[in-house]
Amino acid sequence: MEYEDLLNKILKEKKVGRSERFNPPQVDISISGQKTVINADTFSKYINRPLTHIAKYLMHELTTSGQIDANGKIIMGGKFSRHLVQEKLNSYIKEYVICRQCGSPDTQIKKVENNFVITCLGCGAEYPVGKIK
Ligand SMILES: [Zn+2]
Repeated sequence: MEYEDLLNKILKEKKVGRSERFNPPQVDISISGQKTVINADTFSKYINRPLTHIAKYLMHELTTSGQIDANGKIIMGGKFSRHLVQEKLNSYIKEYVICRQCGSPDTQIKKVENNFVITCLGCGAEYPVGKIK
């Protein structure tokens, strides 16, 4: 096999492997009084998205307000079930992480003027995503 073919084969396998292994860590969700505390720090690093963006999305989706505390935990007003928060995080991944063209999780988000743009490292696609109001 030619060196180049071999290299392409390796790269291809590597890419597929990454997609198969894409398995975001569980997010720790607990209720404290009238608030929901979400420890999404590891999750945020894993999916390569800023915690502030994830927090903003959750608050918008659950129509509540909140903040990120000094320990990097998202504190939201109101009591939300683990199931519901997890469901919203899955939607977040679909909308803001997984490439719409090729389904690769190897994407980046950047702000261009006032919009967010997703760039895929797998296939090179670039497309704008909805802004969280
Ligand atoms: Zn792609």
